[in-house]
Amino acid sequence: MDDRAALHIFVLTLQCNQGCTYCQASSRDKHAESCTMSKEVLKRSVEFMFQSPAHVLTMEFQGGEPSLHPELVRYGIEVAENLRKQQSRDIRYVLCTNCVDVNDDLLSLCKEFNVLISTSLDGPEWLHNRNRGKADSYQKVVAGIKKAREVLGNNAVSALQTTSVMALDHPIGIVDEYVRMGFHDMFLRALNPYGLAANNDDWSQYTDRFVEFYKKAFEHILELNRQGISFVEDFATIILRKILTPFDSGFVDLQSPAGIVNSVLVYNYDGNVYTSDEGRMLAEHGDYTFCLGNVFDQYEDIVYGPKVQQLAQVWSAETLAGCFDCAWRPYCGADPVRNHSTQGDVYGFRPSSLLCRKNKTIITYLVSLIIERYDEVMPIFKNWLQ
Ligand code: SF4
Repeated sequence: MDDRAALHIFVLTLQCNQGCTYCQASSRDKHAESCTMSKEVLKRSVEFMFQSPAHVLTMEFQGGEPSLHPELVRYGIEVAENLRKQQSRDIRYVLCTNCVDVNDDLLSLCKEFNVLISTSLDGPEWLHNRNRGKADSYQKVVAGIKKAREVLGNNAVSALQTTSVMALDHPIGIVDEYVRMGFHDMFLRALNPYGLAANNDDWSQYTDRFVEFYKKAFEHILELNRQGISFVEDFATIILRKILTPFDSGFVDLQSPAGIVNSVLVYNYDGNVYTSDEGRMLAEHGDYTFCLGNVFDQYEDIVYGPKVQQLAQVWSAETLAGCFDCAWRPYCGADPVRNHSTQGDVYGFRPSSLLCRKNKTIITYLVSLIIERYDEVMPIFKNWLQ
């Protein structure tokens, strides 16, 4: 069955009410109204999504800050619901929001359509506020998470952590903040060299420091689990599922063929369609390499068009020098967008790829844990994979 493109990201607006130091979404001031999707483009984008053959669709609202335009969230869902009923398809909705402005109306919309909330929390109050560039951001986010949990239930609210340069020295405090906030899992996430984040420090040094940060945080998470606190690290779980089971979690960034186009399509506020959110972010800085066309074009011309055919030659790790004979290939993935943005060519060169270095080091670390500390870690990992 052709099950491609299950995840569809709708960038409703670039407007945002925060000013994060590491912003990867190329957000703009909240008054930048020209960077907001029209209803006409939104309707056409939803219709475009429904041409994807995937039986279960995920419609994800992103920005900028999509909660600044609740009318568009509602309209997008209403159009999708009509098509879903006509075509007997399954769909799940995700609202990616910083939770700063979640109000009763927005939450009742989420309740009505089972919309999951994906927010971001960077760690303790001082760190979160400094990353966000606002003195009261943490307070507002925590209040927003609490409110969303009350209306939607705990399981409907998840949070993503992003490891800024400032965060690298605080692995324990960041994990503890997630535990304190009542989360049962976290994704220890490195910065990506896209958007405004590309202006950050030396990426080679950042990568090595991130891996050290990851290991310290991970050891702390293992210790919490040994103490009886069930707490999951999501990136490791994605890799462990590949290593220890016959299944794959479908995580877009660790797939071969790559997740771009195969698992995800992105609709920008102006109707342009991109291979992935990272491809869209490059375009915000003038690089349209991964723009596939516009929602007013034919679906086939976009997802089977010449650009995708070219990318298909470099999106399988099995055919890439460096990857094809790498021991970790079954657990890793191909990423032509990252290769292009960091190395200037979609094929990439593994010996100097920082993404390869990070993946290789973390996979090696997880495998060494299984080999050297089997009795200690396997009960925890099995629990995570249930
Ligand atoms: S670890 Fe590096 S060489 Fe190995 S599959 Fe991943 S990207 Fe390719």
